[in-house]
Amino acid sequence: MDTTIISGSALAKQIRKEVRQEVSQLAESGKRLPKLTVVLVGEDPASEVYVRNKNNACEKVGMLNETVLLPGETSMEELLGVIDHLNEDSLVDGILVQMPLPKGLDEEVVKQAVRVDKDVDGFHVENAGKVSLGKLDDAFVPCTPMGVVELLKRNGIEIAGKHVVIVGRSNLVGKPEALLMIGEDATVTVCHSKTPDLTAMTKQADILISAVGRKHTIRPDMIKEGCVIVDVGINRTESGICGDVDFDDCLGKAAAMTPVPGGVGPMTIAMLLKNTMKAYRLHESKEN
Ligand code: NDP
Repeated sequence: MDTTIISGSALAKQIRKEVRQEVSQLAESGKRLPKLTVVLVGEDPASEVYVRNKNNACEKVGMLNETVLLPGETSMEELLGVIDHLNEDSLVDGILVQMPLPKGLDEEVVKQAVRVDKDVDGFHVENAGKVSLGKLDDAFVPCTPMGVVELLKRNGIEIAGKHVVIVGRSNLVGKPEALLMIGEDATVTVCHSKTPDLTAMTKQADILISAVGRKHTIRPDMIKEGCVIVDVGINRTESGICGDVDFDDCLGKAAAMTPVPGGVGPMTIAMLLKNTMKAYRLHESKEN
């Protein structure tokens, strides 16, 4: 079987183009431009790369962006003060606090401190609640799970009626992904580290989504011939970045697969741009 490689990079480029058109129309009509502010606490090299990528993506589409850099020893009180200030700044549409935070800072409290209408990461309980109720138009949906749905749909892969098996149940990826897939009329199975026979589950998947963070999690003997595999995992190895899936070995057995890098990663950033546009539209509609 020929395996189609689903390029997240190509689709993300197309989405950036669409967002760029929206932003240039705003610029041409002299309107205020959308703005994303990223807060980075401490000096984690991986986080610095992610933040740079997010800023670059904003630049490319003409959005305003800024990074607030705070020292690693920033206190909870100081961080919450910065977030409050950004919450009140009417020129800031989206606020993203880059995770993980240095030890001693409570990530859950920080996630809830970002105002719900600026929560472009979709971490606020109100946004999570709306996602669980299927009220997506009203919500900020977490970028990675939303990117996976977009990647499948815009590559013509039917989700309705399919058995989607998700490996991973985090609040960031696995759990919201399951909710989105239910909303797309899939039958969903969620697996995790306590699932006794993972292969018995993954072999049933029409669409298999792996969000574990461990290479070789999905091997060819664990998949059904003709399935679609979405690899969310990002694993740093001596030979570079790889996903959770034995990509080369699954070629020829899967009908379609996303690569790592160049799959879900670029889609996550593209969805962040879309969420920032959504926040902008929400704020503008309240202004007028
Ligand atoms: P977490 O560590 O929060 O969650 C991992 C999940 O995998 C958990 O639910 C865990 O189960 C499950 N798991 C661990 N080991 C096994 C196993 N042997 N068999 C089955 N399930 C297992 O990670 P995240 O959800 O935050 O991220 C997952 C991966 O996706 C990471 O590699 C991360 O870097 C990547 N990622 C990529 C993004 C992108 O843009 N491409 C964005 C976000 C994340 P349990 O709950 O029982 O512990």
